[in-house]
Amino acid sequence: MKLNSKLAIYTGVMTDDEAERALRAERQREYYLRNRDRIQVQRRGNYDRRREEIRIRRATYHRRLKRELLAGYGQRCACCGEEEERFLSLDHVNGGGAAHRRQIGSAPMVWLDAIKRGFPADYQILCFNCNLGRHLNGGICPHQDSMSASAA
Ligand SMILES: [Zn+2]
Ligand SMILES: [Zn+2]
Repeated sequence: MKLNSKLAIYTGVMTDDEAERALRAERQREYYLRNRDRIQVQRRGNYDRRREEIRIRRATYHRRLKRELLAGYGQRCACCGEEEERFLSLDHVNGGGAAHRRQIGSAPMVWLDAIKRGFPADYQILCFNCNLGRHLNGGICPHQDSMSASAA
């Protein structure tokens, strides 16, 4: 390899600069081939680290979005009054939540939509219990059933 580069200079095929660049590329390639396993492990590690950083940044961003969302809607379940942030979810008042999430990409993107549109009334905060209860009970949380039953 080295000889070829030197030969290239002698025969005038390459200028000194070109030959030097070619020589450097050859050395780098040889170095890479000799250390391939170690270099690949290192690259893999960098990749994993970057992915982990991205995951953390995304999780932090989603937490911030959710705080903003809950602050905008009053931080409690519209049905039972649950206030624990981790129990609370955004409910589509008129249904179609799953389809909307699919269309828009993910739950946090739906939160962002609500925040951007200034917390419109077609969303509400429900705890997961009431959210699921509502969907399993034809659109009305069982809490509301028992409330109207006891009122009657
Ligand atoms: Zn609730
Ligand atoms: Zn409820």
